[in-house]
Amino acid sequence: NPETPADILKQRESLAIFSVKEKLLAKIHAHNSCIIIGETASGKTTQLPQFLHEGGFSRQGTIVVTQPRRVAAVSVATRVAQEVGTELGQLVGYTVRFQDVTSPATKIKYMTDGMLLREALGDHLLKRYSVIVLDEAHERTIHTDVLFGVVKKAQRVRLKRQLPPLKVIVMSATMNVDKFSNYFNKAPVLYLEGRQYHVEVLHSMEPQTDYLFAALVTVFQIHKREPPKSDILVFLTGQEEIEAMVHTINDIAKGMPATCPRLIVHPLYASLPSQQQLRVFQPTPDGCRKVIVSTNIAETSITIRGVKFVVDTGMVKAKTFSAISGLDLLKVQRISKAQAWQRTGRAGRQSAGSTVHYSLIRISYRLYTQQEYRNFLDDTIPEIQRCNLASIVLQLLALGVKNPASFDFMDKPSGESMKCAFTELQLLQAVEGAGEAVCLTDLGRQMASFPLDPKLAKVIMASKDLGCAEEILSVVALLSVDSILFTPQQKIEDAQAIRRKFVSSEGDHITYLNIFRAFRGLPEHDKHKWCYENYVHYRNLNTACNIRQQLRDLCLRANIPLKSCGQDMTSVRKCLTKGLFLNAAELQREGTYITLGPVKHKATFHPSSSLFGCKPAYVLYSEIVQTTRCFLRTAFVIEPEWLYETAPNYFRQSKGANR
Ligand code: ADP
Ligand code: MG
Repeated sequence: NPETPADILKQRESLAIFSVKEKLLAKIHAHNSCIIIGETASGKTTQLPQFLHEGGFSRQGTIVVTQPRRVAAVSVATRVAQEVGTELGQLVGYTVRFQDVTSPATKIKYMTDGMLLREALGDHLLKRYSVIVLDEAHERTIHTDVLFGVVKKAQRVRLKRQLPPLKVIVMSATMNVDKFSNYFNKAPVLYLEGRQYHVEVLHSMEPQTDYLFAALVTVFQIHKREPPKSDILVFLTGQEEIEAMVHTINDIAKGMPATCPRLIVHPLYASLPSQQQLRVFQPTPDGCRKVIVSTNIAETSITIRGVKFVVDTGMVKAKTFSAISGLDLLKVQRISKAQAWQRTGRAGRQSAGSTVHYSLIRISYRLYTQQEYRNFLDDTIPEIQRCNLASIVLQLLALGVKNPASFDFMDKPSGESMKCAFTELQLLQAVEGAGEAVCLTDLGRQMASFPLDPKLAKVIMASKDLGCAEEILSVVALLSVDSILFTPQQKIEDAQAIRRKFVSSEGDHITYLNIFRAFRGLPEHDKHKWCYENYVHYRNLNTACNIRQQLRDLCLRANIPLKSCGQDMTSVRKCLTKGLFLNAAELQREGTYITLGPVKHKATFHPSSSLFGCKPAYVLYSEIVQTTRCFLRTAFVIEPEWLYETAPNYFRQSKGANR
């Protein structure tokens, strides 16, 4: 049952923000910067930009709204286009990495924070925009944090030069109001009240050793007991876990008695294709129950109406800052107390349409004990204080910031992590000089033009000399998408057997390349079936193709000839070493690996790696994950001399690479 325009209008008018429209517009008129604090689902992200447009704020430029997540930018833009009744890409559009759905007619533009920052490289004053809305500010992503400083400066300079003024609006779901307000020169703060139902919170009595199993059991306990249409939202940590859980729930559901409501299970994570993302918003049909299995993306940036039960594993996958390692470690870890409350709140959001179910009890099942909860951090640490800063420092330098260490950060990153970023960029030959005299090299300037981690940008630059740009573009594109392997929990052995023909003893990067070559060689109409039969991800491979196309254009602009090295994969591995050398690992006597970067991790190959069960003396990895132990997920074999040749200053001391 698709929504009619009248339904949409009614829904819009029911949002908390609707009643304060005029008040908001007046405040924004009167001040250059404003902070808007509102509970999730009060209508900030979807409505405010429309208000601004109706209020005439788009006459002198576009209204841009940043989102930390790609999924949110796409789904919200789609919704708002539907609300204003135009095709996506016309009045309302979005721009995310490797995808631009806008036109000259676009006046309301949703964008990932990373993309706006990238745009600022070309235009420091962001002259195309009349209003910049920095949304989901409480998430404190590294890009939003840097944008705070960039837009603040653009606003000041535009004022000074008597250019059309820039309005800055910061929107956030929670607290830390004073900090935001002070940073933006005492900007006024506007509060929106959401409509929140009471949610009962239940903690586990005992600590859970297997949160996935605990989540599964909880979902079916709820399902057996509760009437249809009381939907369930489950928080897990990442794509693989989520896909596996969706699969298992569907399997178990087949065995449920006919008296149970029919289960409709939706995954929700960052790299899900837009069409599938939007399915989570479809109203639950009569006699059914919806279960959404999501990453922390459903914590604040996406609201699904009708959720009555939240199952919170208390876990999140996040990048963690490991002292001065210069490496981002993707780690499954505990959420903060603030996140726990956001998750709980998701059960209290208004339902669509009828009031029949409002009286039902709403529960947040926390799969951790009260004692465990007490040990959670109060707030999530801003990303800038726990991430590798090399990419940001490179971008700041490209933005013309002379001394990135003294940039106007809301929360300063530690001196140590700054120093580490400089060291990494020096080793990559992207910067020269030290301290306040540090500056970009020509190579560094070119690296900054790629929307990639500096390590991967360096790999692309190095392909020029090694004559393997064709292959490297593919590998880098493949590393920019989520896993291209598709391995259902129940069919692990099947999948591995069928994929064996692609597996390279040189490592995962070459295996991926083999799969990609086979995929690209197929006629278009065979691709889908082929992927299904070979247990590889059609969509992720397709995305990789698009990314490759765009990287190819950037390559040509950087004068890198598109040469192929044919079947000789040594050049490919050598070339990857030119950028990834800090991710080296050396085999130890007991069969585990020790990383050779500044911080030592002990790790083994992930079971999904092509190198699982092999023991090459040296490898480079591009992904290290920590669950119960550390795993090298994607790795390839190298010769130790390559490390020494690439970074003699760094590897001279390292005993292994010098053998
Ligand atoms: P906030 O930004 O304050 O959290 P939003 O503007 O995102 O609030 O959400 C307002 C309402 O719009 C919510 O009830 C949400 O469910 C609904 N909504 C958002 N995106 C979509 C979509 N793609 N389809 C249907 N409803 C949506
Ligand atoms: Mg929002």
